[in-house]
Amino acid sequence: MNSTQKRGCSKPRAALEVFTPSRYQQSVVFLCLFASPSLHAVMLAVQADRVVSLAEWEERWQQNRIGFHRPHVNKLLERNIKQVVNGRTGVRFFFPLCGKAVDMKWLADMGHSVVGVEIAEKAILQFYEDNNMSYAVEPVPSIPGAKVYKNVEKSISIYHCDLYKFNSCVEGQFGAIWDRGSLVAINPEDREKYASLLLSLMAEDCRYLLSTLLYNPEQHKGPPFLVPNEQILALFGSSCDVQLLDSVDALDQRWREAGLDFMTENTHLIAPKIDKKGFNVFFIERYISPS
Ligand code: SAH
Repeated sequence: MNSTQKRGCSKPRAALEVFTPSRYQQSVVFLCLFASPSLHAVMLAVQADRVVSLAEWEERWQQNRIGFHRPHVNKLLERNIKQVVNGRTGVRFFFPLCGKAVDMKWLADMGHSVVGVEIAEKAILQFYEDNNMSYAVEPVPSIPGAKVYKNVEKSISIYHCDLYKFNSCVEGQFGAIWDRGSLVAINPEDREKYASLLLSLMAEDCRYLLSTLLYNPEQHKGPPFLVPNEQILALFGSSCDVQLLDSVDALDQRWREAGLDFMTENTHLIAPKIDKKGFNVFFIERYISPS
């Protein structure tokens, strides 16, 4: 046996010579395998220890490495906005890691209000500059070192702080959450902490729109990180209904060049569970159940 055989490389190579699947076939096989719970665990393990520090995020903004930013309103938000608003007016939206998402202005222009949290001050300043909005800066007494940037109409407030320092005492609870580039951006080891923070920020009529990504984690180390649908159920499913609204091919030129074979973007609607008797399970768990 030569050294190549010792590493176990020769057989798969021979098999590939006989049948070389197309990228589409590879993706289908991967997706089928991905449906198995044990494979989810294996795939999650690939990125489990990856940590991106707050300083690294700020550095990205300083160096303008913000490929995640989109200059137009998010299509999936546009497509699903009716389900999120659900007939209400003046809904209070929470944007967990907001960057300078133009969706904040879009929602404010529709008469809703927005509270965002972002660690990079440059992102906040650019948001107001790009949108020609004047703003005022105030300290946040309950979060040492934090500042809040509010537009004149006070329909958009962006907190400059670490998300995990934010809590429901600062701005109360929210009627809606738009989570794009947020659950997929936080460090995988923090997902439970993140979910419990977001659950604590949800009002009883909250509608939480969440965008997640599926791809082969062997091809990209993240962020954005891969989040399987099963994990969303595990994080939110005990007190919320989780519905998959959309599943679209998100493999654009940028991701193709980064070496990905496929990328699927899933959009979920998460809302407090109503039990068969019509009781809001969320409300019962939060206020009535003994802990
Ligand atoms: N949601 C935005 C930004 C996504 S990128 C969009 O769709 O464009 C993730 C953003 O979260 C970055 O701007 C980064 O600076 C910020 N961020 C990362 N970790 C954070 C944390 N712990 N607290 C606050 N902001 C954070």
